[in-house]
Amino acid sequence: MTALLEVEGLRVRLPTPRGFATVVDGIDYHVEPAQVFGVAGESGSGKTMSMLALLGLLPPGAVVEGRAAFGGKDLLRLRGRELRAVSGRDIGMVFQDPMTSLHPMLTIGQQLTEHMRRHLGLGRRAAGDRAVELLDQVRIPGPRSALHAYPHQFSGGMRQRIAIAIALACGPRLLIADEPTTALDVTVQAGILRLLDRLRREHDLSVVLITHDLAVMSSIADRISIFYAGRVVESGRRDELLRRPRHPYTRALLDALPHPEAARDTPLVAIKGAPPSPQQIPPGCRYHPRCPYAIEVCTMDDPPLVPTDGRRLACHVDPFADGE
Ligand code: SF4
Repeated sequence: MTALLEVEGLRVRLPTPRGFATVVDGIDYHVEPAQVFGVAGESGSGKTMSMLALLGLLPPGAVVEGRAAFGGKDLLRLRGRELRAVSGRDIGMVFQDPMTSLHPMLTIGQQLTEHMRRHLGLGRRAAGDRAVELLDQVRIPGPRSALHAYPHQFSGGMRQRIAIAIALACGPRLLIADEPTTALDVTVQAGILRLLDRLRREHDLSVVLITHDLAVMSSIADRISIFYAGRVVESGRRDELLRRPRHPYTRALLDALPHPEAARDTPLVAIKGAPPSPQQIPPGCRYHPRCPYAIEVCTMDDPPLVPTDGRRLACHVDPFADGE
């Protein structure tokens, strides 16, 4: 299958008072049509920065290297109007907190129609009709009257649905959802995931789902990449990766999740230590200071990400190779 988005060697460096910090360090991945690609890892692993780089949304002074092929164009080479046309029309973005992406002083209708009039050149009436259709698609009750309401009049889950409607307004082929359910309670979270899954099937939409929570991936992602300290440490098909994690970090992320069959007082297994800051990346495997399986070579040589048994893995030891 031809990939919709193919990213190679993506590297992002951000300016800091102490020089440049490399926050994404040579990442490759691809997103296939109508599939959900999950990106997981702790805060600061480079998940969000690697996506913002594609849309030209990095802070001033950021340096980006690599290639991101999308629809015959390299997103990393686009500038100005050309980039805005692609990022506003062909790629939609949904953020964690819809209150930061929705304008509090504008009605939902204004926000939806403004986007479509600018990018699709629709007239007022056509944009209004399309806005009602979009709100209906994301299951906002009474979509026509919702057009006249303001964001604060909706619950968190409804606001996130509206943010998704805005992201879908111009019929994008790719939707990037950055922690779209983190601020929501479990029931609302499940509803948003079902919505994304349905939109993907009904509209042939590809979705990049960024989350720190592997449980969120388990219901929806087709393939998953695990990010750690700006690198991919393991990637593969969801079932394989969640059922038989091979990288010690993937295993630790899964062990840190509450188990549905565990007794109420069973403590969660926290991951020892904290991820390194981009200015203090340890030599060798970046995970070695936290890894219970580290051996001497791990402290000196950075393991490459290599194909193994239908997945890609970066680990010298591969302690779960036999599925234990
Ligand atoms: Fe642990 Fe070594 Fe594998 Fe890194 S390379 S994850 S330190 S065992």
